[in-house]
Amino acid sequence: MPDSPPSSYRGRLAPSPTGLLHAGHARTFSIAAQRARNHHGTLILRNEDLDPQRSLPEFAEAMIEDLRWLGLRWTEGPDCGGPYGPYAQSERRTHYLAAWRHLRDQGFIYPCTCSRKDLAQVPTAPNDSDDEPIYPGHCRCRTDASQFPEPAGVNWRFRVPDASEITFTDLNLGSQRYIAGRDFGDFLIWRRDDVPAYQLAVVVDDQSMHITEVVRGADLLKSTARQLLLIRALAYATPDYFHCDLVRDPSGIRLAKRHDALSIRHLRRSGLQPEEVLARFAT
Ligand code: GLU
Repeated sequence: MPDSPPSSYRGRLAPSPTGLLHAGHARTFSIAAQRARNHHGTLILRNEDLDPQRSLPEFAEAMIEDLRWLGLRWTEGPDCGGPYGPYAQSERRTHYLAAWRHLRDQGFIYPCTCSRKDLAQVPTAPNDSDDEPIYPGHCRCRTDASQFPEPAGVNWRFRVPDASEITFTDLNLGSQRYIAGRDFGDFLIWRRDDVPAYQLAVVVDDQSMHITEVVRGADLLKSTARQLLLIRALAYATPDYFHCDLVRDPSGIRLAKRHDALSIRHLRRSGLQPEEVLARFAT
């Protein structure tokens, strides 16, 4: 990774190898690539393979092949003459650990021993695509964080400032407003099975990779609000955000990795060209 922040645009492609990429990924990633080109910037590839149970090497290989087939090129790494990248989150634990220590020492996070069963009782908002139910707060008053030299063994949660407003202007979707404690609760930072959580890893990586603009799907808008709290707590620079509209299947359901028939691989095997894959699901 470069020693000093470059002055120009830096974007990223950040797929998770937990399934086959689909037409929605194709569209988000091609927008990310286009925006990096428009800005004459750098585009990095980051393999978000943190979850050892769900990330499979065959999906990582398929992901790279599909991105190449679509004509998407990242511009940092041995393929493109640079010494850095592509990056893999599974190799970056020390960075996440340093951030966890900072958050622990500054009192932003607390250990949580609620069981999955305790949390299963919590109602989730209907039609909410967000996967993290609002934490009911049982452990939030704990003050023993400093007694943990390592994160493993308990869940770690970020204590959100209840009722505070988090606003940002998305470059595609305009102004966004969330209320901490109402729209989302104390969110996971590190899992009890010793895996750093998505929110922490993304924020740490975007900072240390000097990302200036985050382009991703609109399903992550609420996560952006959480990440802004983390960015503030860690005193990081805030990137710009561009959330892409979601691609839906013919019956209006948002594409997910389980939509195998709409995977890039399947569409490709059915004889479609990359441009057709990109055009077909444009909203
Ligand atoms: N790895 C995430 C995904 O595949 C995207 C994370 C991000 O862009 O911040 O959904």
